Amino acid sequence: MVEETWCGRALIGEDFEERCVEISVLNGRIHRIEEVRAAPETWICPSFFNAHTHLGDTIAMDCAAEGDLTALVAPPDGLKHRLLRAASRQSLVSGMHLSIRRMIGGGIHGFADFREGGVDGVNALKEAAAGLPCRPVILGRDGGEAVADGAGISSVRDCPDVEGVVARARAARRPVAFHAGERDRFDVDRALSYNPDLLVHMTHATDRQLRKAADQGISIAVCPRSNWMLGVTDSRDHPPLKRMINAGCSVLLGTDNVMFVEPDLFSEMAFTSTIYRIDPRVLLHAAIDGALLTGSSPYLKEGSAAEFLLINTQNTSLIHSQDMVTSMVRRVDRSVLSNTLIKQKKE
Ligand SMILES: [Zn+2]
Repeated sequence: MVEETWCGRALIGEDFEERCVEISVLNGRIHRIEEVRAAPETWICPSFFNAHTHLGDTIAMDCAAEGDLTALVAPPDGLKHRLLRAASRQSLVSGMHLSIRRMIGGGIHGFADFREGGVDGVNALKEAAAGLPCRPVILGRDGGEAVADGAGISSVRDCPDVEGVVARARAARRPVAFHAGERDRFDVDRALSYNPDLLVHMTHATDRQLRKAADQGISIAVCPRSNWMLGVTDSRDHPPLKRMINAGCSVLLGTDNVMFVEPDLFSEMAFTSTIYRIDPRVLLHAAIDGALLTGSSPYLKEGSAAEFLLINTQNTSLIHSQDMVTSMVRRVDRSVLSNTLIKQKKE
């Protein structure tokens, strides 16, 4: 077996400890991490996981859109759902495929997608993702959950048989995720009562609801740019990121609808850092930790899957960075990404 090595300034382990190292990869896994005295001007960072997407609406990118959340994206007849129904299967698959490639080019190695369109919709995304070095977690609805990785339920308000969907997913040991608290707080308690694996948005969740999510160990995927675009917030108090962190919630970053927001986590981190003034370490974790939903460790440590970003800082001002984590969150973008290394373990 050929051992490959990479050398650079790296964010090691769960604490993102900045060290100059040589990382050797064997059989798709990080085999060894050794300290070196001098490293080339390469940064090595765990790859990203986009914790909430709707890739299907790539086909409606930047369409003329007016109206509130219900008019634009609520099932069954919001603008997005009408456009999805009118799209050919071929353009739908091609749109999703191209969006996944855009994400890979932006350092994203996995994503959790709420896939509309039942069984056909889930199969279309499987086809779109086939052969690409990216791990999809497909969360289906309207029957699609039976052939997906799990269930992605639009608000409890919009799903006529939540009990049945949750019970079937649990019986099959598949994860359950809900949109909750996007427009107001009134669908959050019911969503919490099903003890899901993931809640998306929680833009208007109360402290009590956040504490419950933290106590129940439910991750929260926030999508700040989407919330601003869709007019469900106009202040840094929503989504209540600071309160989420204080309550001990596990916060993840997602980019939501491709039709309105580019699925790019560099932009999401920079925006969120500017508006919400959150510790950069917490934000970098939020862009990476979604991979934990797949049961694998995303961190750079011996034994982890060899999935990391190589960033070429040579001849850029980034070589002057005094703190790699802060610069990753506020300044780095895809233009300096030289490679996304995603090696799957050969079984
Ligand atoms: Zn969503």
